[in-house]
Amino acid sequence: MTNPTLLILAGDGIGPEVMGQVTRIIDWYGKNRDLAFDVEHDLVGGAAYDKHGTPLHDDTMAKALAADAVLLGAVGGPKYDDLDFSVKPERGLLRLRKEMDLFSNLRPAQCFDALADFSSLKKDIVAGLDIMIVRELTSGVYFGEPRGIFEEGNERVGINTQRYTESEIDRVARSAFELARRRSGKVCSMEKANVMESGILWREVVQKVRDTDYPDIELTHMYADNGAMQLVRAPKQFDVIVTDNLFGDILSDCAAMLTGSLGMLPSASLGAPNPDGRPKALYEPVHGSAPDIAGQGKANPIACILSFAMALRYSFDQGDEATRLENAVEKVLADGARTADLMGPEDGTPISTTEMGDAILAALDASL
Ligand code: NAD
Repeated sequence: MTNPTLLILAGDGIGPEVMGQVTRIIDWYGKNRDLAFDVEHDLVGGAAYDKHGTPLHDDTMAKALAADAVLLGAVGGPKYDDLDFSVKPERGLLRLRKEMDLFSNLRPAQCFDALADFSSLKKDIVAGLDIMIVRELTSGVYFGEPRGIFEEGNERVGINTQRYTESEIDRVARSAFELARRRSGKVCSMEKANVMESGILWREVVQKVRDTDYPDIELTHMYADNGAMQLVRAPKQFDVIVTDNLFGDILSDCAAMLTGSLGMLPSASLGAPNPDGRPKALYEPVHGSAPDIAGQGKANPIACILSFAMALRYSFDQGDEATRLENAVEKVLADGARTADLMGPEDGTPISTTEMGDAILAALDASL
């Protein structure tokens, strides 16, 4: 049996720091759980631009397409702000998403009990929250044509086009239903079918996929504006939410903030299944390269570590091992371990990135 392959693209700023802790955890699984990966490291973003003059070398793209999963840290930083748009660090990430055809973006919003006080909402509204937003990532208004700024009469007009084909809606709906089968079996689909034709089609296709192939799933529909209200009023009513690119962009950020710090938020982007049944997949923390704290050992590695837990669950069918890792994170937080982003100014001394990694590894050891 060959080991599954992981391509690690640590990127810029705090990317290499947080990914360093993930690498230790990957080694732990190889030593302790008979779960070894063939890991390769490469460059993305500003780091790739510095070496190759491009934010993603063709060889790296080829490796990403061949790997069983890609783990990415973060890209960008002030050093690259004045670069031409075509070689900006973020273009490397966009190229990965596009060429791997990662159409389904999974953004969990999970509130660990120990951090419930950290939310801007009341503790009882968020404690125990565990929802998943599935955002369509490769179509919709961010990509639709025509787009641009045009002359019209004696003024200019800015145009973007919301466009979804039935097959684009179908595949992201399936992705949400498959996910729901591993969770509570409940999906809420959000659009604006009251005012948008693309929303009417979205609702029809999602319902048809459910009726045809997922009759076990409890499907509800909600207008996205009401969805935004419900997310901050009573988020625990949801389990899986599926929505388009634009609404998903906004709703997933809104849901994420229910849980406190950016340093806690993982994500997965999945594409069509390979011949072996595994989807093409990229896992990355939601946060950026945090130039304000880069190189200081202050970054919280948990978002990146939880992204690896998602890889265990969604790429490698290791749900139990993913839960082991999530439980280790939960235990460490319950025991009071905090990086600076999880503390107020009066809350004592924070621990470093490496110390957070140490604590999580100790909790993994204790789980054996
Ligand atoms: P950011 O997410 O990098 O940082 C926002 C704030 O959150 C900062 O104060 C930062 O210190 C803090 N923060 C973020 N992650 C943290 C962590 N793990 N631990 C502790 N604190 C953390 O967003 P930004 O400042 O708007 O962007 C900085 C750079 O990152 C820009 O170049 C931007 O383009 C890029 N960016 C990249 C990605 C990505 O790689 N996916 C995402 C967002 C932003």
